[in-house]
Amino acid sequence: AAKRMGGNTYIFYDPSMNLADEEMMALQSELRVAVERGELMLHYQPKIDARTGKIRGVEALVRWNSPTRGMVSPGKFIPVAERFGIIIDVGNWVINEACRQTREWMTQGMRLKVAINLSVFQLRMDNLVDYIDAAMKRYEIEPSLLIFEVTESAAMEDPKATRGKLKAIKRLGVSLSIDDFGTGYSSLSYLRQLPFQQLKVDRSFVIELDRDQRDEVSSFEENQKQNNDALAIVDAIVRLSHALNYRVVAEGVETERQKEILMGLNVDEFQGFLFSKPLSPAMLALWAMGEDGNILDDFPPTQAFV
Ligand code: C2E
Ligand code: MG
Ligand code: MG
Ligand code: MG
Repeated sequence: AAKRMGGNTYIFYDPSMNLADEEMMALQSELRVAVERGELMLHYQPKIDARTGKIRGVEALVRWNSPTRGMVSPGKFIPVAERFGIIIDVGNWVINEACRQTREWMTQGMRLKVAINLSVFQLRMDNLVDYIDAAMKRYEIEPSLLIFEVTESAAMEDPKATRGKLKAIKRLGVSLSIDDFGTGYSSLSYLRQLPFQQLKVDRSFVIELDRDQRDEVSSFEENQKQNNDALAIVDAIVRLSHALNYRVVAEGVETERQKEILMGLNVDEFQGFLFSKPLSPAMLALWAMGEDGNILDDFPPTQAFV
């Protein structure tokens, strides 16, 4: 039986299809038209310089504002977009929109470095480099204002092909960042062969740093061990990263204590709810203005703007 999915899309149901499959088919068919209908938007999360306490840039994070589903998180729709080949359209939209916004902030007098996430599927496209180049020219963006984030696992998938692609992107003059570092199976010695300038320590390590202060399920001793292990791991990651000339960003910083520990470990930048959630462009501009003039021990309160 064929079922009408909206638009001109018909999906043929296999009797073995379960509810989760049906839900996924519905999601992908709605997502296909979401791009054209302008239902996607970007939010921006501040990246804070550990030394000065000031905003250094932002990460663009896509959201889907669906008229029927409400706000859908990228954790839910990016995997679907990747599986059904919609990620190229979504990814191109993100690149263009992030460049447009970067230009708009420039005209408002704000020079913000903007980080853009790339899917492994985008990296496989022959015309990705041309697309980025065209978007930068369209909005007259200096390449030094853009950073492209690639997850560690994406970078390690077909490393040979990826290396060529990353080098071509790098030649545009933009920076490259290793996202979610520590969750994959790569070694820094291998990643060294790829042209990265920044490394983002995955949130899972940051969470472990102050577990003793929050987790009441495990014993104090167990938590202490986790803390010490995480500390040793992040310490090693930071030292190696610096030896390789990467700037190190800690993701998912939520507590003052995590921030203090990460400062002690010489992390260069912080990103996390302690500073701010991802914000709409208007809220981000307000936040950045309020933050102006802030100094090291006086991080801005974020709640008011979230
Ligand atoms: P990511 O690139 O690692 O982005 C960081 C994620 O962590 C974001 O989730 C952000 O909201 C969240 N986060 C930041 N600080 C904290 C914190 O202190 N605590 C907690 N619990 N979470 C924090 P988000 O926006 O839901 O995005 C999830 C993932 O979806 C991203 O992980 C990225 O892999 C993917 N994604 C988002 N936007 C895009 C995009 O434009 N293109 C592609 N290909 N992937 C994207
Ligand atoms: Mg990212
Ligand atoms: Mg990340
Ligand atoms: Mg992540």
